[in-house]
Formats: sequence, structure tokens, C-alpha cells
Amino acid sequence: MPTFVYMTRCDGCGECVDICPSDIMHIDKTYRRAYNIEPNFCWECYSCVKACPQHAIDVRGYADFAPMGHSVRVLREEEKRIISWKLKFRDGREKNFVSPIRTTPWGSIKPPYDYEAPSPEALNAQELSHEPEALHIEALPTLPPK
Ligand code: SF4
Ligand code: SF4
Repeated sequence: MPTFVYMTRCDGCGECVDICPSDIMHIDKTYRRAYNIEPNFCWECYSCVKACPQHAIDVRGYADFAPMGHSVRVLREEEKRIISWKLKFRDGREKNFVSPIRTTPWGSIKPPYDYEAPSPEALNAQELSHEPEALHIEALPTLPPK
């Protein structure tokens, strides 16, 4: 389901342009509002939908999924830390989904070069990098002997 922009809600902030991995969200030079320049190339990742602070981006369903008369609304509720999806079918049925926002704050992830270089023994060990301390446990569980 590719996306489209409600131009009356969009304020031209460009968040969707920055986040789109397909580079198809552009700002119209005349109206200073975003639009999807090539819906066929939409990855349907919905990064733009979730990132838009104005809730200006919606999803256009394919006919087999949501035929004429349908609607798909996505709402990012930052204060509740949720993203809610409301699907309305042509026959009036509604489906609502809620999923948590799991965004990690920008800059809060420790980059690899901030970790100590692994020892030669660690490179040959079975554990993954920085296990078990990165898992906040003393040791990985082991199978009991038979
Ligand atoms: Fe770009 Fe993904 Fe939005 Fe499609 S859904 S316009 S690929 S950010
Ligand atoms: Fe418009 Fe939303 Fe894109 Fe900002 S993120 S330019 S408000 S559609």
C-alpha cells in the first residue's frame, strides 16, 4: 500500500523526505508541501507515516486488500508511545491495531569504536561480542549434563 500526503495537513517540515529509503518523498517547489513522486517505487515501509509530526501521510490500499470506500488511518501518539492503525472496510467493518513506538533516542547507542577491542581468545570463543555482560547476566545458560 503506497502512501500519499494530505497537503492541507502537511507543513513542509521535510521529515518524510529525510527518512524515505526510496527517496520518493519530495517537497513540491510551488506549494512547499510533501508528495509521493512515484508510488510504484514505495517500499511500503511506512517510515514516513510514522515520522510525520502532522499525521499528514496516509496509506492507499490495493483493491484486494481494501476496495473502494475503505480507509486506512495511521496515528503516531508520541506521548502514549504508540502507533495506532484504523482500517475501515467498505462493509463498515473496522480493525484497529496498536503497536509500541520502539524508537531509540538519537545518539543514545554506543558506537562500536567506543567498545574495547576484543582479545584474540574472545575472537575464537563461542559467545557473541560482549556476551554475557551486554546481556546484563553473569553467564550464558548451559544445558544440564545428562
Ligand atoms: Fe518512502 Fe517508506 Fe514512505 Fe514509501 S512508505 S514513501 S518507501 S518512507
Ligand atoms: Fe509534510 Fe509530514 Fe512530510 Fe513533514 S513529514 S513534510 S508534515 S508530510
